[in-house]
Amino acid sequence: MGWGRAGRDRLIAACLFSLAAAGCSYPHSAPPADAGASLDAQVQAVLSALTEDEKLALMAGTGTQKEGMWRTPGVPRLGLPGYLMTDGARGVGATQFSADRSQKATAFPVGSARGATFDPALEEQVGEAIGAEARAWGANVILAPVVNVLRHPAWGRSQETYGEDPFHLGVMGAAFVRGAQHHVWANAKHFAVNDIEDTRFTVDVTVDDRTLREVFLAPFRATVQAGVGSVMSAYNQVNGSYCCENAHLLGILEGEWGFDGFVESDWILAVRSTAPSVNAGLDIEMPTPSYFAVPKLRAALASGAITQAKIDDAVRRIVRKQIELPRTIDSSAPTLDVVGSAAHGALALQAEREAIVLLKNDTGALPLDRRKVGHVAVVGTFASIARLGDAGSSNVVPGHAVTPLAGLRDRAPSVTLDVVDADALAAADAATVGADDAAVVVVGLTAQDEGENTTVSPPPGDRTTLALHPEHVALIQSVAALNARTIVVMEAGSAITMQGWNDKVSAIVMAWYPGQEGGDAIADVLFGDVNPSGRLPVSFPVSESDLPPFDDTSTAVTYGYLHGYRYLDASGTAPLFPFGFGLSYTTFAFSNLTLSAGSIAATDSITATVSVQNTGAVAGDEVVQLYVNAKGTAVQRAPEVLAGFSRVHLAPGAQASVALRIAAADLAYFDVGSSSWKVETGAYAIAVGSSSRDLPLSETLTIR
Ligand code: BGC
Repeated sequence: MGWGRAGRDRLIAACLFSLAAAGCSYPHSAPPADAGASLDAQVQAVLSALTEDEKLALMAGTGTQKEGMWRTPGVPRLGLPGYLMTDGARGVGATQFSADRSQKATAFPVGSARGATFDPALEEQVGEAIGAEARAWGANVILAPVVNVLRHPAWGRSQETYGEDPFHLGVMGAAFVRGAQHHVWANAKHFAVNDIEDTRFTVDVTVDDRTLREVFLAPFRATVQAGVGSVMSAYNQVNGSYCCENAHLLGILEGEWGFDGFVESDWILAVRSTAPSVNAGLDIEMPTPSYFAVPKLRAALASGAITQAKIDDAVRRIVRKQIELPRTIDSSAPTLDVVGSAAHGALALQAEREAIVLLKNDTGALPLDRRKVGHVAVVGTFASIARLGDAGSSNVVPGHAVTPLAGLRDRAPSVTLDVVDADALAAADAATVGADDAAVVVVGLTAQDEGENTTVSPPPGDRTTLALHPEHVALIQSVAALNARTIVVMEAGSAITMQGWNDKVSAIVMAWYPGQEGGDAIADVLFGDVNPSGRLPVSFPVSESDLPPFDDTSTAVTYGYLHGYRYLDASGTAPLFPFGFGLSYTTFAFSNLTLSAGSIAATDSITATVSVQNTGAVAGDEVVQLYVNAKGTAVQRAPEVLAGFSRVHLAPGAQASVALRIAAADLAYFDVGSSSWKVETGAYAIAVGSSSRDLPLSETLTIR
């Protein structure tokens, strides 16, 4: 048929979505009139219409070109918009580059804080809010969630991920994906085993295939199962091959897991080759073409180093998600009003309220009763600064941010706050601090102590110690020596060791980097308006030497099977505060653990049901946690492995029945010999309780 190229292009463009007709911002256009046509057919039509050079040009970014968003090329004649991407681990990063800098995004609590909520339904709402802000800003990809395993709390980017447990990470990451993808494609990053910051561009991690799959890849798999649209391959090497050209890693993702989205590189130094990267399965080099520059791709094609089929596979993935997006996102597009909206601020507040972990509370220390507490000392420079976290790619600039001091003032106007805005007490402070009814000391880490190894000078990178700064330790000690009701509030991205001070204070509150409403949430917890309910998503060791070694200078490192609570439990080492731990102002009792079946086949699943009762005087949330112990296992396993959790709200005296489903397949291990998952027959202890170290109930499940 003699359509001619222009006619055919017009037809394809009409079948897709027209930028002009939709009259809307760059990437989101109205779904096509015949959107019912099969996605595969539309993708194939576009693929056939693209010239070779157009195809190759799709395989690299074009730099930051629109108000802080990273761009990949589109093909306007075919209605392909290209991608506009913004960072988003704790909110939309791009708005800080708005032309007049007036647009401010919502700064949510960091990932480790949101991990501490153990509340995937809330995380889905956070994902949806961040996705909506990204979409309103013009993006069609949000560069989140981070689902790297927090293998060691010294990792500089610990705050961006949800925690140390692969199962919990996968549940939380999948929730973010489901929420964000109401509006944009999410991007699971950084694939994979990206757990040291200072040597991230070079480090080669040796890891056996079982550890790789069960520990490091499991959270990514959960996001793929949730339908994530894109994955970012990491800077580092795994088993001698850079992630962007790692055929094993990308083969698992695109082959075994059937991921149908696109893989883009991490930024600037991640791609190290042309043909090996394309052949392994990398689709887009970001943020600008270097190894994926059109002439280099063309030459590799001409020499036979890359096949046309490989190029077409990459282009098909890139094109598919552009065509698919308008079909899957909510039909009504959010406007710019949602960016930094009051509703999203309220969500950030709720997230932090659920994230705060009460670690220690001697009788009568917390909550502070406004009617009885007349004077409270508020000590430390951190009290009057809103600490939002890293200044690297996860940075968000909000319209406002509530400091702990402002939160305390706001929530307790009747209480006199004696403020010591210093990290050492002056002689004149001692009498006041000593006479006050309580002293709140706010301490922690800054964006100079931990964060991404970026161009910020000096780059923070990994932590050099898990302890607080010596001046903060001295401050706590001197306040505690004066005031018997000393309450320490900590802001940081992961575990803190507490030698020399935790036994001297009466309460310890872990607030993480608490987001823009953090000060209010902290005050809500201190005054008992909110009952703390966060649970640690990372073990707090007594001493750093209790954990596997972490060397931020290593360029070659081998990871064993165990880390975090699994390592501590296996080595019989008591943590300072265990994974899953968090106190409440009420108490809970567990009873009646029952399994729907005591013996099942390897293809079956069961439901574990347990009663949990609020046995105290105030309402509160408990996070019911289920751990599995594979008793007669023939392979190395951790003594307890998290396999289910559920947050439940209970009025005083109320009781609820909580059901958690476990499939036998979830208990499988990866058998390296046969390169397949194996469910061992035999007995498994199914233990339920309120942390990895407090499991009062246990039943036996037999897999036959
Ligand atoms: C980070 C990514 C981020 C990208 C774009 C990289 O250096 O590792 O997490 O998405 O920069 O800002």
